[in-house]
Amino acid sequence: MTDRILTINAGSSSIKLALFAATPMLPMLVRGQIEGIGAAPRLVLRAPDGTVLDQHAIEPARVSDHASALDALLASLAPHLGRDLVAAVGHRVVHGGATFVAPIAVGDTVMSALRALEPLAPLHQPHNLAGIEAARRAFPSALQVACFDTAFHRTQPWVSDTYALPRAYYERGVRRYGFHGLSYESVMARLALDAPDVARGRLVLAHLGNGASLCAVSGSRAQATTMGFSPLDGLPMGTRTGQIDPGVLLYLMTEDGLDAAGLADLLNRRSGMLGLSGLSNDVRTLEAAGTAEASGALDYFVAHTVREIGGLAATLGGLDGLVFSGGIGENAWRLRARIVEALGFLGVDLDVAANRRSDPVVSIPGSRVVARIVPADEEAAIARHTAAFARSERP
Ligand code: AMP
Repeated sequence: MTDRILTINAGSSSIKLALFAATPMLPMLVRGQIEGIGAAPRLVLRAPDGTVLDQHAIEPARVSDHASALDALLASLAPHLGRDLVAAVGHRVVHGGATFVAPIAVGDTVMSALRALEPLAPLHQPHNLAGIEAARRAFPSALQVACFDTAFHRTQPWVSDTYALPRAYYERGVRRYGFHGLSYESVMARLALDAPDVARGRLVLAHLGNGASLCAVSGSRAQATTMGFSPLDGLPMGTRTGQIDPGVLLYLMTEDGLDAAGLADLLNRRSGMLGLSGLSNDVRTLEAAGTAEASGALDYFVAHTVREIGGLAATLGGLDGLVFSGGIGENAWRLRARIVEALGFLGVDLDVAANRRSDPVVSIPGSRVVARIVPADEEAAIARHTAAFARSERP
């Protein structure tokens, strides 16, 4: 019997879960997910190499909420768990506010504090917490650890952390929290192993997926990031606007009578590359479409990503490394080539063939700024935090 560590990433209509052996190397044993909770649920269980072990649709009535989805996933995981004990469960929690700067064990008091943060991330936090509640019921004796997407950014200096609002707003929590922190942590951990010199330098980490953000890092500490109070700011995304003049929102409220719910829907779900193309939020679809609108959406994504990377390079006083992760960063080689080539003036020199292959290093040998691809592995980051916490809790 070996102790196991389970990680849970609960979204609005999906739960992702991964099982690790609680040994020093923390190998992943199996991972699974249910999508379409409450609508058309579908379960997939995979081996670490991606081989499908189990895949089936589930009757919607059987998986109507996070608790029943977790039960269904655990039932399908049971043969892989055997008689081993789940000693600790690590959870992805989007918002830790100003208080939670590191992972924390969740009991009733912490749970209440995390609930109080729900207004800061209404689209994500309630689902994350539903995952914790479901896991507390399923594993009452296991340690539950919350790992925060905001925590990585808490080292950023005040000028990166505040808005130019009256100071009282900062004190009550209107801050640039930043997100994708677990992804950035996993990228930095991998980089420290694969390219320790690069990891110590001035870096822009580019998490480019359906959600997209950048983070400037120096001395392995976060210095600034493009997302802010919410995951809406910064880069254009699949369906989110990214940076927008708040004057546009005032105009739409005054002229069109849009209320908070209408604006939230417009900014979160109908904008970004989907809004610009009128076609899709998916880069593969846009690249294949070849329409002027689809090309325009990709052009906007490239132009604003380049502009924000340039801004963060200025914040760092220069650049030593540029690191891509996320579905677009890891795979969309055409967009990556355009971004790297546009930044040639900073000293990054694209290796066209390596980039086409999506190799780990996509700059030529001798390029002053190194460009790399490092796949994000949020589950591994959560598992590492949770294992460290479990060790420190042991008498
Ligand atoms: P993520 O949210 O990190 O899963 O990333 C999703 C985005 O990655 C979508 O826009 C996809 O179109 C994009 N993506 C994934 N694979 C590829 C690929 N092979 N080529 C281009 N884009 C891709």
